[in-house]
Amino acid sequence: MTLDKRNLYRMPWSMNDNPIAWLEVSDICNLHCEGCYRQHMTGHKTLEEVKEEVLFFKRWRNPDNVSIAGGEPLIYPHILELVSFIAQQGIKPVILTNACALKPDLLHQLKVAGLAGFTIHIDSHQGRPGWENKTEGQLNELRQYYADMIAAEKGLYVIFNQTVYPSTFQQIPDVMAWGSQNIDRVQGLVFITYRTATVDDTTAVDQNSQQVDLSKLSYSRDSFDEKFVTSPEVHDKLKECCPEYEASAYLGGSISHSSFKWLIGTTIGVKGKPYGSLDKRAMEVVQAGHHWFNGTYLAYTSTSKIGGLVFLLWPWDKGVRQALGHRITDMFSHPKRFFKGVYVQSISIIQAPDILEDGRTDMCDSCPDITYYQGKLVNSCRMDEYRLYGGFINIVEHQGKSAVQPKQPAEQPEQPVEQVEH
Ligand code: SF4
Repeated sequence: MTLDKRNLYRMPWSMNDNPIAWLEVSDICNLHCEGCYRQHMTGHKTLEEVKEEVLFFKRWRNPDNVSIAGGEPLIYPHILELVSFIAQQGIKPVILTNACALKPDLLHQLKVAGLAGFTIHIDSHQGRPGWENKTEGQLNELRQYYADMIAAEKGLYVIFNQTVYPSTFQQIPDVMAWGSQNIDRVQGLVFITYRTATVDDTTAVDQNSQQVDLSKLSYSRDSFDEKFVTSPEVHDKLKECCPEYEASAYLGGSISHSSFKWLIGTTIGVKGKPYGSLDKRAMEVVQAGHHWFNGTYLAYTSTSKIGGLVFLLWPWDKGVRQALGHRITDMFSHPKRFFKGVYVQSISIIQAPDILEDGRTDMCDSCPDITYYQGKLVNSCRMDEYRLYGGFINIVEHQGKSAVQPKQPAEQPEQPVEQVEH
C-alpha cells in the first residue's frame, strides 16, 4: 500500500519539546563505519563539559532520554559518572554504541549507575574485526550475542540499528525475521538509509561564500553511482517479509512536503509470530498520554513486555483490534501459544538528509537527533560542517547544475543562546 501521510500520525515533537537529546561525549571511535558522520578532531570532552550540555538539554529540549553518542561512548573515561548524573536529573540515559567494548561487568556497572538501555549499531559496512565480509543475516549471530547479554542483566532495553546501503537493501528481511524471533528481548529495530555527498559533482561554499573542500567531510565520497534507498522503499521491503508491519507515525522533511524522513511503527506479537501493528490512533494516545502524565514525549518504550495490556487500546485503534483478532484466532489454532507472552517492538526507518535538485538540503522536520554545539542546537548529522567551516555549507552546484536557491535561512548560523544556569 502506498504510504499516505493522512493515515499516519505526525509526531508532535519540536525543537523545544522533543523526547531525544543527542549528547556527543567524544569523537574518538574504535571502528570506522562507512556511514558515520563524525571524524576525530577534538577527542574526549571533559565531564564538566558534558554535564553542562545535559543541563542545557534539560532546559531547552525537555527530553525523555539523553542519547549518549560519539564517537564511541563506551570508551569515554567518565561514562559511569555521566550515566549517573543524567539519571539524577530524572532523564533516561541511553547509550548509542557499536558495542565492541561492551562486556558483562561494564554492563552491570552501567545498570547500577542508572542506564535505561542501549541502541547498538551493527551492520556489514563497519570493518568490524572478525566480521569482515559478512552479510546482514550472518551478523544476526553478533546481534544475538549482545541481545542475550543484555537480557541476562535484566531491566535494560536494547534497540539494534543499521545503515541500509543499496548493496544491503535486499538483506533487510533477514534482520526483520531475526527481530521477530527475539521480540521478547529486542525492543526495536532501526533502519537508517545511507547518504553521502559526492565531491565530483558538487560544489559548496561556506558562510563567507568561500568554496570549501568537501573531501574533508567524513560523509563525502569521490563519487557514488548507485541510487540511494528511500524510507518508503524500506517500508515496502519490510511489508514484503512481514505483512503485519505497518508504520503508524512519521516526521516529514524540512523542505520537501512529500518526504518521509522518519517512519515509526510498532508491531505486536509473540516470539516469531507478529499479530499486527499499532495504528496512528494508538500512537497519538501514547504520545499525548506520556506527555500528560510525565511531561515529556516518548521515543523509546522502556519495556516490550506490555503483555495483553496493549490490547486495552482496542477501542481507539484499528491496528490493535486487528492484532487482537489474530491473537484470538491463533490461540484457538495453537493452544500452546496461549501461554506465550505478548510483546511490542518498534520498527523505525530514517531517511538521512537529501540534497535536492536545486541544491537545498532536505533535513528531518523537528530533527530528533539535534545536538549541542557552542551554545547552539545543530543537526548532529551535519555538525562537522560547523566544526570545519563555522556553519552549514551551501551547495552552489549539484550534479553539474547551478543551484537555483541562494542561502536558505535555516542554514544561516544561529546566535548562541545564553549560558546554562546551575
Ligand atoms: S536531520 Fe536530524 S534526525 Fe535527520 S539524520 Fe540529521 S541528525 Fe538525524
